[in-house]
Amino acid sequence: MMRTLLDLILPMECGGCAAAGVAWCPRCRAELAVEPIVVEPRVSPGVPCWALGRYSGPRRRAVLAAKERGRRDLAEPLGAALGSALDWLRREGELDPPELASLALVPAPTRSRAARMRGGDPVTRTASVAARALPRCTVAPVLGLAGRTRDSVGLTVDQRQRNLAGRVQLRSGSSIPPRANVVLLDDVITTGTTARESVRTLRRAGIAVTVVLVVASA
Ligand SMILES: [Zn+2]
Repeated sequence: MMRTLLDLILPMECGGCAAAGVAWCPRCRAELAVEPIVVEPRVSPGVPCWALGRYSGPRRRAVLAAKERGRRDLAEPLGAALGSALDWLRREGELDPPELASLALVPAPTRSRAARMRGGDPVTRTASVAARALPRCTVAPVLGLAGRTRDSVGLTVDQRQRNLAGRVQLRSGSSIPPRANVVLLDDVITTGTTARESVRTLRRAGIAVTVVLVVASA
């Protein structure tokens, strides 16, 4: 019923390939259901980085639709895929198994104004879906961006670093469970500057990030 009503307002299409009549099609579901790959961004965050795949096809479309077209529903397939990847990392020993350590998912910081305009932060929403599917896993939105941070689109690597230096900050009101494995989550890793600044900020607060996991690596 709800779906029919929404269809009248906004014709439904797959967030990954634009196929008609479905929010997320079986083919795109299959494309996300893969083992994560190791990626090496130009600016190393100093911890292993994993991605569901390259920034292309359904991953790229879905990230853009969630970020810029208000497709909140895409948090479900993206979060489920990240949850499976985290489960795989636990089984492969890249993260401690649940009986040894809990897992804290830290969404990469986003400019708050941008997040508000886009109807909430898609990365945090996606992280919540991933956490729901995993034992002993919580979302810890502890990072934010201070003041005058420009959108990084179109900036060079050097400019991105200057833009972000010192501006990734700890937010009050949320904390990380002691002895948890900490995973920094983001939608896309491009140069690696956001991940590096985030890992640094957490390290200064005595929090060690175990791995970075993203939907796509550009
Ligand atoms: Zn599709």
